[in-house]
Amino acid sequence: MSDSVDWIVVLDVSLEEAATLADQVINWFVQEKIILPDAVASSRGNKMWSRAWAHKWDADLTFQTRPAQCGLEIAIGRRVFDAGGQGIDALVCPACGTRHEPDILPWSDAVGAWHAGDDQSAMKCPACGVEQCIGAWHFDVPWALGNLGFGFWNWTIKERLVQEVASLIGRRCRLVRQHL
Ligand SMILES: [Zn+2]
Repeated sequence: MSDSVDWIVVLDVSLEEAATLADQVINWFVQEKIILPDAVASSRGNKMWSRAWAHKWDADLTFQTRPAQCGLEIAIGRRVFDAGGQGIDALVCPACGTRHEPDILPWSDAVGAWHAGDDQSAMKCPACGVEQCIGAWHFDVPWALGNLGFGFWNWTIKERLVQEVASLIGRRCRLVRQHL
């Protein structure tokens, strides 16, 4: 069976700030009884928390068929949060809203340059000519580029939880549903 991970990705955070913001969100998840306060190192080197029973959040958090494999992974570090195997259908220009076939744009190079450390890595829209940072483009299905992510393993979340985290830390967040 495959795994799925619902990521809350924080879009506007530097690597220097990521650990502090992560602590703030983890404390809130513990306080809300979404996770237990015991972390272990995961195989990826990130921290993994066990789920708690958050009755208050029952409507927003759905455990999937294998509850033992539900957990929260905290990913700190430059990372491309992709949607997994199915690829993307389109790239939407953040300036003019035109949908483009992925094949006609050098998006893969732009993502690669960002991942290699270039925060200004950008791509020009063939429709309106405006160049935008690759992280500002809308991927359909959603992807996100960032230094901090909260990954709910086999644990489906709703958009409301993403908005709660965004308002808690005062940053933009995006939901990425990843299928492994
Ligand atoms: Zn455009």
